[in-house]
Amino acid sequence: MQLTTADARRSVLHRAERLRRLSDTERDLIRLANEPGFPRWLEQIKATGGCAHPIYLAGRTTVVDADTGQVLRRYDTDTEPGVRMAVRCRNRRESRCAPCSRLHSGDTFHLVRSGLLGGKSVPVTVTAHPRLFVTLTAPSFGAVHRATADDERCHPRRDGGACEHGRPLGCGHVHAADDPAAGQPLCADCYDYPSHVLWHAHAGELWNRTIRAIRRHLATSAGIPQSKIGDHLRLSFAKVTEYQRRGAVHFHAVIRLDGPDGPSTPPPDWASAELLGAAVRSAAASVEVSMPYLPGVGELVFRWGGQLDVHSIRRAFADDGAVTDQAVAAYVAKYVSKGVGDAGGTDYPIRSLDDIALVPVSAHVRALMGTCWRLGRLPGLEHLRLRAWAHTLGYRGHCLTKSRAYSTTYGELRTARAARHGVSLSGLDAGLSPVVESVWRYVGSGHTPGAELIAAGIADDLVVLREIRRELVAERRWSDAA
Ligand SMILES: [Zn+2]
Ligand SMILES: [Zn+2]
Ligand SMILES: [Zn+2]
Repeated sequence: MQLTTADARRSVLHRAERLRRLSDTERDLIRLANEPGFPRWLEQIKATGGCAHPIYLAGRTTVVDADTGQVLRRYDTDTEPGVRMAVRCRNRRESRCAPCSRLHSGDTFHLVRSGLLGGKSVPVTVTAHPRLFVTLTAPSFGAVHRATADDERCHPRRDGGACEHGRPLGCGHVHAADDPAAGQPLCADCYDYPSHVLWHAHAGELWNRTIRAIRRHLATSAGIPQSKIGDHLRLSFAKVTEYQRRGAVHFHAVIRLDGPDGPSTPPPDWASAELLGAAVRSAAASVEVSMPYLPGVGELVFRWGGQLDVHSIRRAFADDGAVTDQAVAAYVAKYVSKGVGDAGGTDYPIRSLDDIALVPVSAHVRALMGTCWRLGRLPGLEHLRLRAWAHTLGYRGHCLTKSRAYSTTYGELRTARAARHGVSLSGLDAGLSPVVESVWRYVGSGHTPGAELIAAGIADDLVVLREIRRELVAERRWSDAA
């Protein structure tokens, strides 16, 4: 490779820039270590788990006895370094903040796991309820290159035909998993971009209708009027969204049947996992959402793709090779740390057409974002807010959604954790009526270069500690079994 003068100059400038930054970081590290509040600051950063973009708050929390007005406990940032306290950014995306994303995955694991195995306010008897693990997919919007295993070819075709744009209809290549071509359309002009983003915009409604159809199917099979099904059973679910390489979402869901009062009551005997499975299959095959005719778009009907997976979930340690509840919880938790970014999209909203031209995404994802932008201004589609959701390719849902009765919430898990760090109410005299008063305000966010290095070190140490702990637990199990 020939280096041009411009390349060489850029390379020298780049190296000089790195050296300059390194010395900035060093200077900052020395400054931090010499601050009188350094040990306490370090404790704060440890408490955030080494969060990459902490939020700084100033204020106070006071616990007062409601009867006497006496101050029982008090925490104030006046005595903290910089008169502020660091809290986690709580971003669930691994690409934004690895430590907070790990915490979020852990929360999701517990949330999904308690709905399957009990715990965190869910009785352990739920393990005897019918539980399914279901994957629902988007239909095809045009042929895309696909990564395959075992040297299988992408789209083999003997006749070597071409589309109306003169592009080959087949592809004889073998794409590795990291091949940037995987997920890209064989012909971008043939690919149905409007249907793809509009399907995304209606996927939430498609899901809601599916849940209602499953309930209807269960009522019909049992000979119960649909309006009375709630007197017999309740259907709970937790679902996560996964973006595939082609930029289309998949839903992975745990669906559980409970008795009429939720997880603490058993479902009726006739409500078996097999019947639930049949209800899911028939609902997925029949449910549709239609969009009225629009000039330039036409009339569209949205359905699920043909690929549907329904697995019965067995108790952990099942030896018949079925999916176990532990495995499902881990599998689901893995998806929440991934975002559209992993499918080649972005994690932040798009503000203008220029943004779409500049974001570092594949041509396919750029075309999907551009389609959201273009359709977003059409009369009759405003309610889909396609421009505001261009970065998620038109899909408006959360990464994880669950029905109320499924299990605990993120909020409850966070409250339980906050009680450990902040002002605790435990140990107070039983005769008191404690009232918590809090006044907090945002005073800043992010790290200085030196602080960033220290936080990253803390986050790495925590990962190592967790691995050591896991090994010790495994070793103990091994010696217990021996
Ligand atoms: Zn964070
Ligand atoms: Zn291909
Ligand atoms: Zn074509």
